[in-house]
Amino acid sequence: MKTCAIVGVNWGDEGKGRMVDLLSGQYDIVIRYQGGGNAGHTVVNQYGKFALHLLPSGIFRPDAVNVLGNGVALDPENLWTEIEDLRSRGVPVSPENLKISDRASLLLPWHRLLDGLEEARLKDRAYGSTRQGIAPFYSDKAQKKTVLAGELFYPDRLAEHLRELLEWKNLTLTRVYGAAPCSLDELMAWVWDYGGKIKPFLCDTAAFLHDASQAGKSLLFEAQLGALRDLDYGIYPFTTSSNTLAAYAPVGSGLPTAKLDRIVGVVKAYSTCVGEGPFVCELFGDEAARLREAGAEYGAKTGRPRRVGPLDLVATRYGIRLQGTTELALTKLDVLGYLKQIPVCTHYELDGKRTGEFPFPSALDRAKPVIEMLEGWNCDISGIRNWKDLPEAARNYVDYVEEKLACPIRCVSVGPDRDAYVIHQR
Ligand code: GDP
Repeated sequence: MKTCAIVGVNWGDEGKGRMVDLLSGQYDIVIRYQGGGNAGHTVVNQYGKFALHLLPSGIFRPDAVNVLGNGVALDPENLWTEIEDLRSRGVPVSPENLKISDRASLLLPWHRLLDGLEEARLKDRAYGSTRQGIAPFYSDKAQKKTVLAGELFYPDRLAEHLRELLEWKNLTLTRVYGAAPCSLDELMAWVWDYGGKIKPFLCDTAAFLHDASQAGKSLLFEAQLGALRDLDYGIYPFTTSSNTLAAYAPVGSGLPTAKLDRIVGVVKAYSTCVGEGPFVCELFGDEAARLREAGAEYGAKTGRPRRVGPLDLVATRYGIRLQGTTELALTKLDVLGYLKQIPVCTHYELDGKRTGEFPFPSALDRAKPVIEMLEGWNCDISGIRNWKDLPEAARNYVDYVEEKLACPIRCVSVGPDRDAYVIHQR
């Protein structure tokens, strides 16, 4: 059995979707194992441009089976909107090529509601949540206060379960936040409507993956967000509420005994970060605006302008360590073509000392970036497909980054289209 995980090394938005779209042709099954509709994977291919939120990026491959594992936050309403959008644009989505774990918990309307209420309560101390209900969802799951998608096959028990949860949840809504309670009728109507729509896709994906692995099928695990957003190892509390690491892929997908033999870490040629939290290498003013425009750095889900900065070798090395990457894909190299000189953050200065180690989250606010300038190539490289045709300065940039990160860079992308990449040669 061949297994591979494609994961983010930084803060997310590294371009994982396009890498999965590219590599999924080599795998039989593509699996999303954590996260929900709070981020977006942008994929450009023969069908057009898509911002996928929950669907695995292998959905465009006619021969790939796609799986949403037990670890995802399954929002049936958003998922259905996504399925309808793809179908309307000619992409086939059916129970044949999309299988949803019956053990995935349902993200319910009150999760989104509570996300918004809590961000509003925090005012200027808000986390910058996308308000898709992800944090309330995962905290409810940890409290065993969610319903599993498979309960849709047991309607009487599900109705009773929802009634109990509603009673509990309304206490929080009304007494903690002073909000209106949710109505049972509306909740039931929503669950039967959207739950009914996704029901044909539900199955025991753990058994499916077990059988597939026994039959020697190859598996591609697709992560959402990046290492620095991992709940346990990221920039807590400015993390997401799930584990974004490759190590979680087997558990969140339904094949807990799987061993990963290839881990592709996706690194952007510069840094971006959405939302609040420490971002040591952040650029401001005109410099930031130019990079943001050059890279079209606006959130796939929210349209929010992303914070931008140079490549951060300190944070990236930490992310590589957490992911255990066997190789890297360096994306969006073309975006740096407008620069005569390219800044790179090589170290942090913390309390008067220079360090190459990523600090404990509470110390990050005090860290200052140490910047080295590299020669830019100052031209458009988006049409180049062969390593030798890249300008020398671009080749030097890739070689430099590879050496500093101590992990082989294999694929270098130079544009959003599927074929816009160069294989790194040494
Ligand atoms: P993901 O969440 O990690 O999949 O990242 P995003 O969906 O935010 O993808 C990054 C964005 O950059 C998307 O709009 C992609 O189409 C685009 N993109 C990906 N690779 C490249 C590249 O090499 N060059 C350029 N210019 N854009 C790219």
